[in-house]
Amino acid sequence: MENVNWSELPFGYMKTDYNVRCYYRDGKWGELEVSSSEIINIHMAATCLHYGQEAFEGLKAYRGRDGKIRVFRMDENAKRLQSSSRGIMLAELPVTVFEEAVRKVVKLNERFIPPYESGSSLYIRPLLLGMGAQVGVKPANDYLFLVFVTPVGPYFKGGFKPSPVCIMREYDRAAPLGTGTIKVGGNYAASLVAGEKAHKEGYAAVLYLDPKEKKYIDECGPANFFAIRGKTYITPESHSILPSITNKSLIQLAKDMGFTVERRPVPIEELSTFDEAAECGTAAVVAPISRIDDLDENNSYIYSKDGKPGAVCEQLYNKLRGIQYGDEPDLHNWVSFIE
Ligand SMILES: *Cc1c(COP(=O)(O)O)cnc(C)c1O
Repeated sequence: MENVNWSELPFGYMKTDYNVRCYYRDGKWGELEVSSSEIINIHMAATCLHYGQEAFEGLKAYRGRDGKIRVFRMDENAKRLQSSSRGIMLAELPVTVFEEAVRKVVKLNERFIPPYESGSSLYIRPLLLGMGAQVGVKPANDYLFLVFVTPVGPYFKGGFKPSPVCIMREYDRAAPLGTGTIKVGGNYAASLVAGEKAHKEGYAAVLYLDPKEKKYIDECGPANFFAIRGKTYITPESHSILPSITNKSLIQLAKDMGFTVERRPVPIEELSTFDEAAECGTAAVVAPISRIDDLDENNSYIYSKDGKPGAVCEQLYNKLRGIQYGDEPDLHNWVSFIE
């Protein structure tokens, strides 16, 4: 791995040595299998291909200053995959199998875990696919759980910086009582058109409103939304938001820092009262928002004029990242070591 520039890696796919697979057949999960192939063999009538019976997860492994490998809250990802599975009738994978697969795939690809100094990490992508052939709309009988990894660069290449997001009412990523609370590929397919449009106009993301009334803030395409007002951490509650593990962790850290936490419907009008606003998720941890442009109402909410992030966002970002890389004490037992 001598010729890899670890700190310049994109958030993209790079081939690694191995992936780990587990098949569900005849009503039960089989043994974990190690594969060096990037290809899966799949029936053309598999339910994941035409009825979207697919869920995924995303987490990271970090190499610390001490050289040790840490994975952040993987039990939460395992449980969320189970909740996604109940949502679209996939076979549920036991938490222990999920964790064993993550440990195995990280260990087997140890040479791809970027060095501490690079600020990069190893992205871990678990997927669960409906594999059995069906033509009628029914859940499959067979499933494949697969985990691959790929090294990814630091999210903030030019330093921790805020960027603008936009509100567009003509698109929703999820239906009011649909699949917004689970991590399924279909939500992402639904968000591609709006996302591309936003990127073309120079926005980092679309900030979605609640799909039922368009009165409340939901979340950004692939990240939750939170705001800071005085000593309060405010994050939306809704039937169409994906429960972010990063948000859950930031809520705990905010409480530890003496903040009051409010998780409740957040009306759009409240945007003008916040001191700071940000997106949060595994990829960036915290991505501060400089400005929210409401493109339908011709309105802007400004959180940063000088290109600098808010102080609380920065503090939360440093704290959580510090825990993930082992620079800060892990007081809540969030980290697992891979040995
Ligand atoms: C994955 C995801 C997030 C972020 O969740 P984390 O567990 O923090 O990575 C937020 N919103 C959506 C829609 C997601 O799919």
